[in-house]
Amino acid sequence: MGKTEKFDHMKLIGEYAGGHKALITLGRFLAAVSAVLALIPYYDLWKIIKLAVEGKETEKISHFAWMAVILTISSLLVYIAALLCTHIAAFRIQANMRSMLMRRIITLPLGVFDEDGTGKIRRIVNDSTAATETFIAHNIPDKTVAAITPVGLMVLIFAFNWKIGLICMIPALIGFMCMMSMMGKGMQEKMAEYQNALETMSSEATEYVRGVPVVKTFGQTIHSFKRFKASIDGFGKWATDYTLMLRTPMMGFMTCINAIFAFIVLAAFLVTRDGTSSADILNIMYYIIVTPLITVALTKVAYSGEAEMTLIDALKRVENIMEIEPLKDETSDKKPLDNSIELENVTYRYKDATRDALKNISLKIQQGEHVALVGPSGSGKTTLAELLVRFFDVTEGEIKIGGVNVKDIPSEELMRRVSFVFQDSRLLKKSIYENVALARPGATETEVLAALKKAQCMDIIEKLPAGIHTVIGEKGTYLSGGEQQRITIARAVLKDAPILILDEATAFADPDNEAKVQAAFKELSKDKTLIMIAHRLSTVVSADRIFVMDNGSVVSSGTHKELMEKQGLYRKMFDEYMTGIEWKVGA
Ligand code: ADP
Repeated sequence: MGKTEKFDHMKLIGEYAGGHKALITLGRFLAAVSAVLALIPYYDLWKIIKLAVEGKETEKISHFAWMAVILTISSLLVYIAALLCTHIAAFRIQANMRSMLMRRIITLPLGVFDEDGTGKIRRIVNDSTAATETFIAHNIPDKTVAAITPVGLMVLIFAFNWKIGLICMIPALIGFMCMMSMMGKGMQEKMAEYQNALETMSSEATEYVRGVPVVKTFGQTIHSFKRFKASIDGFGKWATDYTLMLRTPMMGFMTCINAIFAFIVLAAFLVTRDGTSSADILNIMYYIIVTPLITVALTKVAYSGEAEMTLIDALKRVENIMEIEPLKDETSDKKPLDNSIELENVTYRYKDATRDALKNISLKIQQGEHVALVGPSGSGKTTLAELLVRFFDVTEGEIKIGGVNVKDIPSEELMRRVSFVFQDSRLLKKSIYENVALARPGATETEVLAALKKAQCMDIIEKLPAGIHTVIGEKGTYLSGGEQQRITIARAVLKDAPILILDEATAFADPDNEAKVQAAFKELSKDKTLIMIAHRLSTVVSADRIFVMDNGSVVSSGTHKELMEKQGLYRKMFDEYMTGIEWKVGA
């Protein structure tokens, strides 16, 4: 915890900056020079007004005017140089952050992408690093200017007439205090809540849009719409709470900074009580021009504070990814002896969960055996399947493939040995050929076509404009959930791994698609060790063995016939399933 409290964002930026750290310092220095150069013309302005009011040496006016113009232009040029330095540093830092993140992400357990959602990770890689870039490129020089300008203006204001200066400072100071109260401690939390709400909403939106075909196919409209709507409502609530929280201090701030004129009028009355001198007129005219600039300067201070909070939040998000423990890849060259699978007292609990998703499971699957995992939703079927391919590592116990602990099998060997087709397998925005050939880079077109044929995909290919070279997701080429699953099956066919994990879809829109997916599964699983997560019990009847799961445990196992005789959970589920089918037919 102490770590988050002492979060040193500038030190962290320095680390990402590497050799470009000096550019940030140079950028800051140049911004400071530019701020000082920009302040001098206000002295010239005072001189000009003085000369004009006194009506003496009017030829000198143009001298001061020119000086002011030259200094303003110089200040601008120096500021551009400062921006150049910070921009170069910012782009380097952004590139460094992204490549460090990508290198880290590649080592993370696959389960992380499940837990946090790919949308969230994408947002951190894109947006959090972009926020850091914006801060370094723009806010660092702005912040330097914002710190120097109000101080310089105050010096000027007090130097010419401290009494008027003092009166004008009253609203500026109260405004500043209001602003500081807005930037108080709760603000950083609010900023994190804002980013969270935005993150959830954007990942829900991505999931929703991506899921449109699935939503349509599986008729899950209400469910998925609810989550998306809840995230929008969550964001709306945050925005309202935040606005209400800021209402009073913001009103105070705006009132004060806009009231500066009223205070100048008051000051004018006070200083001219005993008669008006030309010096008084000069000062009042000068203050009318210069004092509002304090407003602008203070507003900039306010914005630089907000930008810093966004930066801290962005850096914390990046750090959260960098801190995830990567999957330990053993350098051992242990090779599984065969394609059998064994679980010994396996227990798994998800991060931050209060109970185990799997409890003390022991089972053995022989090479070539076809087994099915059945059980109510949430019983742990997916978790078990995912542990086999190290989406996560077990909390307790051991998983062995061919007699070797999966943790000791080099990840390449493990991936070569196991194929998985999950329900929500997504295709990349590439051609069908490239999507399938991912399984075996360099596969020829003939090989890919053969795999597609075995996976019952020919009807899909035939209706696409450019056959297997059609890019999915482009020019209106979208595939339904079942079609996408068939393409991923083709990928698994091409990979030809000896162990297969299949997660069948819960429902299909049309029987034709369902029949094709079943046929593809059948073709794919020939001569393989197969673990099928079954949702429709009609497909498990022919399995060699069925494991019935409930509440994270395997409650019984056996063939369909054996389990039906036991009168247990399986029998109950099967009877309900059959009634469901009859009811559908009857309806
Ligand atoms: P099934 O596939 O049988 O429907 P799962 O393996 O998906 O079951 O889930 C088993 C249990 O683990 C459930 O209680 C579920 O809520 C929980 N669970 C699943 N995924 C996660 C996750 N990413 N984080 C926390 N809990 C999870």
